[in-house]
Order: sequence, then C-alpha cells, then structure tokens
Amino acid sequence: MLITELKSKESIDALLGAKAFIINCFGCKEVSFPEEEAKALQKELCDAGKVTGILTMDYICNPDNLKLQLENFKAEADEADTVLVFSCGVGVQTVADFFSGKKVFAACDTYRLPGFQGVTPQEFDCDQCGMCFLNGTGGICPITACSKSLVNGQCGGAKNGKCEVDPEMDCGWERIQKRLEKLGKIDILKNAPVQIRDYSTDDATKECKESE
Ligand code: SF4
Ligand code: SF4
Repeated sequence: MLITELKSKESIDALLGAKAFIINCFGCKEVSFPEEEAKALQKELCDAGKVTGILTMDYICNPDNLKLQLENFKAEADEADTVLVFSCGVGVQTVADFFSGKKVFAACDTYRLPGFQGVTPQEFDCDQCGMCFLNGTGGICPITACSKSLVNGQCGGAKNGKCEVDPEMDCGWERIQKRLEKLGKIDILKNAPVQIRDYSTDDATKECKESE
C-alpha cells in the first residue's frame, strides 16, 4: 500500500515554466490519491493559462499504455515546456523516461504504508521515501537507482559508468548527471543545497499512530 500527497503549491509553482502538460494517474485503487486537491490546483493552473492539456488515465506506470494514450495528446504535449505528473514515484519515472528531452516534474510525494504492495513487475522502482527527490534529478530516483540511496550526488566509486557496489548496474548518479545535461539543467546539481533525508517520512504508519 502507498499514499500520495500533493507537494506544496509554492514548490510546484516554482518548477513550472510558461506552459505545462498535466498527466493524472488514477490507476491503482490501493493508492490513496489526493484527487480533490489535485483537481483544485489544476483548475487554478488552467485559469492562469498555464496548462496546454490534461490527460487522466490509469496505470501510467505501463509504458505501452502511456504511449498509446499520449498519441491523442501529441499537440498538447509538444506545446508544453514541462510535464507535471500527479502519481506515485513509479508513474513519474515512467513519464520522465518517455519524455527524456522534456522537463518532467512530480506533483506528489509518495509514502509507504505497510501491507500488500502488488505483484506487477515494474520497469522502475519507488521506495516510497515520502519526500520525492525526482524534481532535482531529472526524473531518475536516487533512492532506488543508486545502491547506497545517496541524495547528494555520487560516491566517486563508479568505474566506466558502473556502480562500485553492483558492477552489473549502471551508476544511478551518472545516469542522473547525463539526463540533466541532456535537459540543459546540470546547474541543478551544481547549485543544489545539501539534501537532508528525513527518514521519519519513510513510514506513514508512524504518523497515523501518532494522530490516533
Ligand atoms: S525519490 Fe524515489 S523513492 Fe522517493 S518518492 Fe520519489 S520515486 Fe519514490
Ligand atoms: S557507484 Fe553510483 S550507484 Fe553505485 S553507490 Fe556510488 S553513486 Fe550510487
């Protein structure tokens, strides 16, 4: 089980360029999604003339399904300089991979809830860390793409692009660097403040118990 929660409106505003294309995922019924808040925020963005189009679909984590659905939204996606995704971290990574030359941002944080996690194999992982870092990493998850889950850049141990912990795997932080270079956003890494991971957001049950 997992929960998604909207990031603050200020942090979303700060990410957007002139025009955004929005993708909503309403796929997994076991995912708690802030549907009403998302609709209200999207209406505000539409009223401000910042939205080229909205695609609402299920299972954006299925790349074939995503590609098929996007065929009807090509003009809207082309017109936008950013893509804003309302989904869990897996969905955002799938969209970022599809639009590898466009800025893709997560509108939500994804939190873990104990219980059934599903059995569908995914191309991308989200460890439901509760403070999604994808907006500073070109849409590649540093928690799951890096063996050490580093959030402040690479450890320096990679050889020929491969991870020092697992030589079979590409270094996640080299992938992030290449993606940001391709997007012309490498300054994000150069100017990024030190990220402090808050492990208390790792387990949403803690919060549920505290509020009981
Ligand atoms: S940074 Fe990674 S683990 Fe954390 S919510 Fe985003 S996709 Fe999931
Ligand atoms: S080599 Fe890259 S992926 Fe491996 S632990 Fe270091 S930074 Fe992370």
